[in-house]
Amino acid sequence: MTYQAPVDDIMRVLKTAAGLDELIEQGVLEVDEDTIRAVIQEAGKFGAEVLEPLSAPGDRAGSKLVDGKVVTPPGWKEAYKQFAEGGWGALSAPEEWGGQNLPQVIATAAGEIWNSANLAFGLCPLLTHGAIDAIEAQGSEELKRTYLPKMVTGEWTGTMNLTEPHAGSDLGQLRSRAEPQGDGSYRIFGTKIFITYGDHEMTDNIIHLVLARLPDAPPGTRGISLFLVPKYLVNKDGTVGKRNDVVCAGLEHKLGIHASPTAVMKYGERDGAVGYLVGEENRGLNVMFIMMNAARLAVGTQGVSVAERATQRALAYARDRKQGRAASTKGTDMAPIIEHPDIRRSLLTMMALTQAARAICLVTARETDVARRAKDPAQRAAAAQRVALLTPIAKAFSTDIGCEVASIGVQVHGGMGFIEETGAAQIYRDARILPIYEGTNGIQALDLVTRKIPLEGGKVVAGYIAELSKTVDEVRASNRPEFGRMGERLGEAVAALAEATRFMGACLQKNQDAALAGATPYLRLFGLASGGIYLARGALASARDTNGHARPIAIARFFAENIATAASGLKDTVVSGADSTLMLTAEALSA
Ligand SMILES: Cc1cc2nc3c(=O)[nH]c(=O)nc-3n(C[C@H](O)[C@H](O)[C@H](O)COP(=O)(O)OP(=O)(O)OC[C@H]3O[C@@H](n4cnc5c(N)ncnc54)[C@H](O)[C@@H]3O)c2cc1C
Repeated sequence: MTYQAPVDDIMRVLKTAAGLDELIEQGVLEVDEDTIRAVIQEAGKFGAEVLEPLSAPGDRAGSKLVDGKVVTPPGWKEAYKQFAEGGWGALSAPEEWGGQNLPQVIATAAGEIWNSANLAFGLCPLLTHGAIDAIEAQGSEELKRTYLPKMVTGEWTGTMNLTEPHAGSDLGQLRSRAEPQGDGSYRIFGTKIFITYGDHEMTDNIIHLVLARLPDAPPGTRGISLFLVPKYLVNKDGTVGKRNDVVCAGLEHKLGIHASPTAVMKYGERDGAVGYLVGEENRGLNVMFIMMNAARLAVGTQGVSVAERATQRALAYARDRKQGRAASTKGTDMAPIIEHPDIRRSLLTMMALTQAARAICLVTARETDVARRAKDPAQRAAAAQRVALLTPIAKAFSTDIGCEVASIGVQVHGGMGFIEETGAAQIYRDARILPIYEGTNGIQALDLVTRKIPLEGGKVVAGYIAELSKTVDEVRASNRPEFGRMGERLGEAVAALAEATRFMGACLQKNQDAALAGATPYLRLFGLASGGIYLARGALASARDTNGHARPIAIARFFAENIATAASGLKDTVVSGADSTLMLTAEALSA
């Protein structure tokens, strides 16, 4: 079943949950709705026609290291060329460097589509974009002039080099080192592992952003600097010069995303790889965070991508596959499995989780646009705080549900789901990396609880929850029979979030371990309450509109009555489960 970009669903979320009309009216976005729809439609066409047909063959062929060179699957290089020539890599990049300066909401929607069509391909522009953001924010004018135009047009790709064998989540442990050369450049030495698109032959050059330590750097995260290290040195006239001292020493064999080369990178095996400082010495992690926040939203969106793809496939299969009898079947006929209540519940769960996660990601993108583009500095600052709060939820909730929805997708296919030819299995395998890279979901939960709840003394999260409560009031006041118990259930979910947040706030003061023990269920609760409310905003808009559709109401109601009901249990886990998690560890986990 070929992929179809969910353009109407995306536009609906943009208009209802993300308040697109308001942003256009206020002049925050300088594009109209028709242009946004047209760009998303074109992205959908590119995804369905160019990227999707390469996904399954790319999975089978994988990327390979042949005679020291990384060979991507057949068709990959040509598709990348088309992607770059179409200007797709540069959607939200600044015009100054050749980008289109389009809003983040468009880039996020387009990113969802490309990653649905072909997750292993989508990763390459995703990381390039993160690298562009970091260089743009903190690079010197010379670095910007030399590297950004070619990266923005997609002529060169970018990578992110953080991880080392002994330094994953704990980057403070990294050992790669940088020696100043006295001419403004540095020589970089060290080994990085798991580097996505660390090497390939699709472009003339690859621009690595590498974390390393200077000779007298303080230990831990305060002693890390960021360096730009090109695969090929760039001549004064901008042409590609001689090979730098950086090599791909191997590619990993993985559970999924086989076509995406995950490389072991060796820097400075000879006389040191030439690198240039980005930002200030010992402040590299701060710069990397600029890149990581954007990349975390993009990876969260990949969760939506796999969920959407799994849902489309499962729906098509369930309409086609006949087994057993349902209430509507006559004579000896078998029913399409979509008629069985358990399959319907599965499909609705897939759709509702996907749309809730999409809304969370697009709302985060919306806030990114406001933070960058609003005229009022106070509005920009408030939106930046909102981005900080929502980013771990966008990343972790969406990628968790991506895996769950992909798993339900396999289940809906029955035995055929386990067999590769339906494609459900590839989606499931590909999805599994998403909660791991770009900061594991455990680390996202930790970030949410320890850094985001305390923002502005708790005012940022309190203001957000107050906004969710307003929507609950609107749903209740609407008194519409087709909403069922939506108001009641969402009211319970938001109340659960408020109580768990108060508990977390207090816990952080006196017993941080108890807060950390409940961080993951708290993040899930946050995602459920937020997603439920965003879907309810879609339902309210549909109910107000005389030409409104029944689908958004049905999905919002299903989410509230069948999925958001977990919120109260999660609150109990957060509030009273922490003690048992901590106290019983010795008894339950002893060897
Ligand atoms: C396919 C793939 C592509 C990747 N691409 C890149 C890339 O392009 N660039 C790059 O730099 N890296 C990349 N990575 C690395 C990835 O970001 C790391 O694997 C990830 O950050 C986790 O680090 P780790 O594997 O060392 O796990 P560890 O840090 O060892 O974590 C193991 C477990 O312990 C938990 N944990 C660790 N510390 C804590 C803590 N303080 N509190 C609570 N729980 C904790 C984690 O959540 C996890 O569940 C990639 C990895 C893979 C597999």
